[in-house]
Amino acid sequence: MTECLFCRIVSGEIPAEVVATSEHALAFRDINPTAPTHVLVIPTRHVVDIPTLAGAPAELADLVALGARVAAQEGLDDGYRLVANTGRAGGQVVFHAHLHVIGGRRMGWPPG
Ligand code: AMP
Repeated sequence: MTECLFCRIVSGEIPAEVVATSEHALAFRDINPTAPTHVLVIPTRHVVDIPTLAGAPAELADLVALGARVAAQEGLDDGYRLVANTGRAGGQVVFHAHLHVIGGRRMGWPPG
């Protein structure tokens, strides 16, 4: 049995509110949303972070495209934020690559 939380969501072992899927990726609502829309888009294959996916361009492109599809589905026509927290100092807590799709409110800059 895998220890990885997001692999367990991919396998269905842990429930999640899935909003979209693609060939290589899965999108589900963040359990602790920071905005009206807060969706996580993850590769179904286990890789630790987004930069690691640079070695798999088809999967990376599929992931970003699914993020854009989710944003459109959620009606974020005015814009949204795609976030890839990377490494501990970057705020990454779950070490299975993911993009946050965050929108539905005005975003501040710089991020915290
Ligand atoms: P990060 O800090 O970039 O690693 O983000 C991890 C995200 O996963 C956080 O925003 C958490 O709220 C979210 N999260 C943790 N557990 C779950 C879960 N079981 N279902 C959905 N989202 C989760």
